[in-house]
Amino acid sequence: MSTVTAYATSGPKEPFQKTSIERRDLGEHDVLIAIAYAGICHSDIHTGRGEWGPANYPLVPGHEIAGTVEAVGSAVTKFAVGDRAGVGCMVDSCRECENCLAGEEQYCLKGMTGTYGGTDRDGQPTAGGYSTHIVVDDNYVVSIPEGIGLDVAAPLLCAGITLFSPLKHWGVGPGSKVAIVGMGGLGHMGVQIAHALGAEVTVLSQSMSKEADGRRFGADHYYATSDESTWSKLHASFDLIINTVSASIPVDAYLALLKRDGSFVIVGAPPEPLSVQAFSLIGSRHSFSGSMIGGIRETQEMLDFCAAHGIGAQVEVISASQIDEAWDRVVASDVRYRFVIDTATM
Ligand code: NAP
Ligand code: ZN
Repeated sequence: MSTVTAYATSGPKEPFQKTSIERRDLGEHDVLIAIAYAGICHSDIHTGRGEWGPANYPLVPGHEIAGTVEAVGSAVTKFAVGDRAGVGCMVDSCRECENCLAGEEQYCLKGMTGTYGGTDRDGQPTAGGYSTHIVVDDNYVVSIPEGIGLDVAAPLLCAGITLFSPLKHWGVGPGSKVAIVGMGGLGHMGVQIAHALGAEVTVLSQSMSKEADGRRFGADHYYATSDESTWSKLHASFDLIINTVSASIPVDAYLALLKRDGSFVIVGAPPEPLSVQAFSLIGSRHSFSGSMIGGIRETQEMLDFCAAHGIGAQVEVISASQIDEAWDRVVASDVRYRFVIDTATM
C-alpha cells in the first residue's frame, strides 16, 4: 500500500478536505498513474450531495482522470513508464458477461466497478481522481494521444465518451439533424463531436447567453428554450436529440421536436423521475432512450477521434482548494465548460 494525497467530502453538506488515502500495491496487471488533472463532472455532485441516494463517505470523487504512468505491473504490455494515460468512470467489470464480452463494460450485468464510491474486487472502497495517484487494472486504462493537453483531455474520459457513444450508436453523420439540450460539460463536448461527425447541430439552451461559444464549438443553430417561439419553430426538426440536462425537463415538449422515427436520448441523470405521454411517442414512432458513458474500446476510439479533429474540452483549471466553489458554480450553470483540478495544487 502507498499513501497518497486526496480531497474528500465526509457528507452531503460537508466541504472538501485534504486527506490521505491508501492505493494498493501494484498487481501484475496494474498501472500506477500520477494524476495531472481531474475533471469535475455533475455526477460527482449528484453523488457527493446524496442526490442519487446515500453515498459512501468519505468520498473522493473524480472520474475524468488524465496523467502519466509512473509504474507498471510485471504483466502490463500496453503501457510503459512515462506514457500519457486516462481513466474514466469504471475501473473494473466482470469481464465475462455478454456485455463485457461485447466491449460494453459499462453495462456489465454484474455491475461495473465505479472509479469512486464503489467497492473494488479486493473489497476496498474505490477512490477517484481528486487525488495525486491512482492504481488501475490496465484493461480499464486508455492512452491519451499526443497533441491533446492533459488538462483538456481529462473531461473527455466522461463528458466526451458520454456524448460520443450515443452519437455513434444512433448513426450520426453527414445529413443528420442533431440537437444537444444543455450546453454544460457534456453538452459542449456533444456539439463539437456531432459537428466533427458531419451533423447539422442545434443547441437548445436555457438562454442565448452562450450562443457565441456554441457556434465556436460547431453549432449551426442556437435556440433558447425560455423563448416560447422556439417550440413551434423547431416542431418535427430533429433525427436525434441528446438531453444532457442535470435537472428534470418537460420530455413531451422535446419529443415534439423530433421528426418521424426520431430518438430522444437521455444522458443527463436528474434524481427526479421523468414523465412521458404515450401519444408523444406513438404519434410519430418516436423513441425515448438512454445511454451511459461508453466501453473501454470506444473510449479509446473517442480519444483518437478527438485528437484527429483537434477536439478538447474548454476548461477552467482550478486548485484543489476551489472544489466547493466550483461545485456550486456547476449547479448554478456557471461553468465554461468544465472545471479541471490541477493536482499539483494538492
Ligand atoms: P453541467 O455541466 O452542469 O451541464 C448541465 C447543463 O444543463 C447546464 O450547463 C445547463 O445548460 C443545463 N441545465 C442545468 N439546469 C437546468 C434546468 N433546471 N433546466 C434546463 N436546463 C438546465 O453537467 P454535466 O457534467 O454536463 O452533466 C449533465 C448531466 O449528465 C448530469 O445529470 C450528470 O450526472 C449526467 N451524466 C450522465 C452520464 C451518463 O453516462 N449518462 C455521464 C456523465 C454525466 P444551459 O445553460 O445551456 O441551459
Ligand atoms: Zn461524469
